[in-house]
Amino acid sequence: MAQFVKSVTGGVTLHRSILLMNKRFASKSAPGFCFEPSPEQLQLQLLARQFSRREIVPVAAKYDKTGEYPWDIIKKAHSLGLMNNHIPKELGGADIGCLESAIILEELGYGCCAMTTTINVNNLGQIPIVYNGNKEQQRKYLGRMVEEPLICAFAVSELNAGSDVANIQTTAVKKGDHYVLNGKKVWIINAGHANWFFALARTNLDPKVPAQKALSGFIVDRDTPGVIFGKKESIMGQRTADTRTITFEDALIPKENLLTGEGAGFKIVMGAFDRTRPTVAATSTGLAQRALDEATGHAVNRHTFGVPIAKHQLVMGMLAEMAISIEMARSAWMRASWELDQGRRNTYYASIAKGLAADVANKCATDAVQILGGNGYCTDYPVEKLMRDAKIYQIYDGSAQIQRLIIAREHIARSYNPSH
Ligand SMILES: Cc1cc2nc3c(=O)[nH]c(=O)nc-3n(C[C@H](O)[C@H](O)[C@H](O)COP(=O)(O)OP(=O)(O)OC[C@H]3O[C@@H](n4cnc5c(N)ncnc54)[C@H](O)[C@@H]3O)c2cc1C
Repeated sequence: MAQFVKSVTGGVTLHRSILLMNKRFASKSAPGFCFEPSPEQLQLQLLARQFSRREIVPVAAKYDKTGEYPWDIIKKAHSLGLMNNHIPKELGGADIGCLESAIILEELGYGCCAMTTTINVNNLGQIPIVYNGNKEQQRKYLGRMVEEPLICAFAVSELNAGSDVANIQTTAVKKGDHYVLNGKKVWIINAGHANWFFALARTNLDPKVPAQKALSGFIVDRDTPGVIFGKKESIMGQRTADTRTITFEDALIPKENLLTGEGAGFKIVMGAFDRTRPTVAATSTGLAQRALDEATGHAVNRHTFGVPIAKHQLVMGMLAEMAISIEMARSAWMRASWELDQGRRNTYYASIAKGLAADVANKCATDAVQILGGNGYCTDYPVEKLMRDAKIYQIYDGSAQIQRLIIAREHIARSYNPSH
C-alpha cells in the first residue's frame, strides 16, 4: 500500500512506501567493508530524525514528569511506519533488517529513550512470533499491529528469575485444549497497555529437566480471565514506559497459542535477544549522542575565567572521550545488526554492542551533567533525565555482568573453534 504521509517535520513529504519496498535493503547483500548507508537507509534515518527532534524532544520532559503513557507519539510513529517494521511483507509489514531498525531507534532514542523503549519492547514482544510463529499466529497477532497502533509486551522476568532466566517458576499445565498458567511476571514494560504479550512458562514440571527443554513460549491475550495486571511501578528513569507485574491465576491459554512446541521457549527468548540487543544498543547510543550535543552546546556558550568552558582542556577532554565512545558504540551495534542480517549467529556481537553502549550512555550522561555544572543537576535542563534514563540499560535486556559472561563464553568457544 503506497500511503503518503505528510511529514510532521515542516513541509517535507515523506513516503511511507520507502518502508514497503519490494526488496530488502542493501545491508542484506553488501559485501566487504562499507560505512556508506544506502539511499533508503538515509531516508529512514532522516524520517526518524525529523520525527524525533520535532515531535519527541519538545514533549519528553512533560511525559517524564507526568509518567503518562506516550500514546500521542506511538500513534504518530505508527502512522509514519516507524514501528513494527520487522513484520513480514505478506502481513503488510515492511520486513526491514535489524540494521535499519537500529538506525531508526538511535534517532528516536536521541529524542527520548523512555518513549523509544515502549516502541522497542513492542518489537521485542513481536520478534518471537516473527521468528517462530506459524502462519495463523502471525496473521492473528502481527497483522493487527500493522493495521492499528497496538502495543504488546514481553513477559519473561520473575522475582527469582531476572538474570537467571532458567529459574522461571511460572507453570503451564496442559488440560484438554488449553494450558493453565499460574505464576507471576515482574517489571513488564508496556503491561498496562498491551493488547497481547509473549510469556515464558515451565511446561515440564520435573525440576531435573533443564530449562532448555522445560520452558515454553506462549502468546497471551490481554483480556484472558485469570490474567491480572499490577499497579504501575515507580521507577528512577524511563518513567513513561509503563512497567507492571502480571499475575496468572489459572489463566486458560488456548493450545494454539503455544509457539513452536513444548520445550522451545528458552531458545525462542535467546533468539529474540540476539535481534533486540543491537537495537537497544542503538537507542543507548542515541541517548549518549544527545548528552554530547547538549554538553557541547553548553560548553561553547558558558564562560568561566574569561573564555568558553569548551576552551578549558579538561572539558575538551571530556567532550573528546564522549565522542570516541559514541563512535565505538555506534560501530558495535552496526556490526551486531549487520551480522544478523547476513543470516549469521550474532550473539557475541550483540552482547558486545549492548554491554558497551549501555556503559557509554551512562558515562556520557554523567559527563554531560558535569559539563552543565549546577544547571546539569536541575530538572529545567534535559541532561539529568538522560542520566536517570541511562541506568536501566545496564540492567534490563541482560545486565552489564550478564553481557560480559556471554561475551567471555562466546570468545572462549571461538578461541577453540577457528571456523567462527
Ligand atoms: C524498569 C525495568 C523494566 C524491565 N522490563 C522488562 C520486560 O519488559 N520484560 C521482562 O521480562 N523483564 C523486564 N525487566 C527485568 C530485567 O530484565 C531484570 O531486572 C534483569 O534481567 C536483572 O534481573 P534481576 O532484577 O532479577 O537482578 P538479578 O538477576 O538478581 O541480578 C542482580 C545483580 O547481580 C548481577 N548478577 C546476577 N547474576 C550474575 C552472574 N551470574 N554473574 C555476575 N553477576 C550477576 C546482575 O548483573 C545484577 O547486577 C525490567 C526491569 C526493569 C527494572
